[in-house]
Amino acid sequence: MKASVITGKQRIGVFGGAFDPPHNAHVELAKAALEQLKLDALYIIPTGQAWHKVRELSAPEHRLAMTRLAFEALPGVVVDDRELQRAGPSFTVDTLQALQTENPQAQLYLFIGADQFAAFRQWHRWQEVLELAIICIADRAQSTLTQTQFDAYVGHEHRFFTLKLPLMPVSATHIRQLTASGAAAAEGLTSLVPEPVARYISLHSLYRSH
Ligand code: ATP
Repeated sequence: MKASVITGKQRIGVFGGAFDPPHNAHVELAKAALEQLKLDALYIIPTGQAWHKVRELSAPEHRLAMTRLAFEALPGVVVDDRELQRAGPSFTVDTLQALQTENPQAQLYLFIGADQFAAFRQWHRWQEVLELAIICIADRAQSTLTQTQFDAYVGHEHRFFTLKLPLMPVSATHIRQLTASGAAAAEGLTSLVPEPVARYISLHSLYRSH
């Protein structure tokens, strides 16, 4: 761990995602975030219709309900629906700015998977994102993090942190496909998503029409 990343300030983590649905890798990432960065709070923020996702997302109320079911048992977690309330495209930079204004003394930490990091320079106002938050990256089986990816950020190395986390090959896409193909009943999903989320998917017949 880079000692400089842990400051004496209040530490607030931000973990955004479509969470369509939230799955076990998301929960493991949140646990690692709370533990390794010694966070005072971790904001879990379901995204609105993000500009970089081509697919139409499930209804906000379903994604919010599942996000609550998946994360709320973790101490320190706050499920925050501000991006779902926002009209139009939703940008991480705006959310970070709002959180910094609400918590002027805090150091913000933004948690992303390696696939998101690979596209980070295409993010809206990414330089401001980098100024507002320390970017904490979790490696993903589909998108292995390499040291050369950091070469593009010379002079900003201290703004990045790599989370220690085993590679977890689960993705929301795979879960939706499994459900749509009928290959996974609710019980079959419980190795991939928290049990209350599996029950919610089954109860509301989500992902059946893909
Ligand atoms: P989809 O398959 O629909 O693209 P997803 O599984 O990537 O979904 P998201 O809700 O888009 O899930 O992800 C939210 C955040 O969690 C992103 O930063 C993503 O990189 C990260 N993440 C998702 N799955 C993993 C995983 N298996 N390991 C590490 N990080 C992950």
